Amino acid sequence: TNLTFTMIKPDAVEGGHTGAIIKLIEEAGFRIVAIKKTQLTPERAGQFYAVHRERPFYNDLRTYMSSGAIVPMILEKENAVADFRKLIGATNPAQAEEGTIRKLYAKSMQENAVHGSDSDENAEIEASFFFATTDRY
Ligand code: ATP
Repeated sequence: TNLTFTMIKPDAVEGGHTGAIIKLIEEAGFRIVAIKKTQLTPERAGQFYAVHRERPFYNDLRTYMSSGAIVPMILEKENAVADFRKLIGATNPAQAEEGTIRKLYAKSMQENAVHGSDSDENAEIEASFFFATTDRY
């Protein structure tokens, strides 16, 4: 498919970077299919990141991801998943390339500004976590 899922994470929303990040996303050729502002409970954040439940950072990740508002979005572009991961840069902002969203806006390995799906299959699972089919345009 040509869809991917992203969310602007609490550090970037709180820091006032929502508009700048959306601008970079649109300038890179992605079309916004769905968007909203919401906040996760720790339980729902844990569900979203369930694949990481055995990792040492899981509890911190749940706390962080439920600490403030997030902006989840579904994005459309040819080769969306791979191209979006390129646009956001490495998980650790210290290793992210110049010009990437994480290089520009991430504060740390955990507070790294944005999420990006890692496969077409996960993009659909994650999109469905936040949006009904009738909320996609
Ligand atoms: P995402 O899935 O959010 O796009 P990613 O695929 O780059 O990020 P993952 O390895 O899937 O990274 O980790 C998910 C999230 O967990 C990271 O984006 C980050 O917020 C947090 N995280 C990952 N590794 C660490 C770590 N070593 N310490 C603290 N937080 C971490």
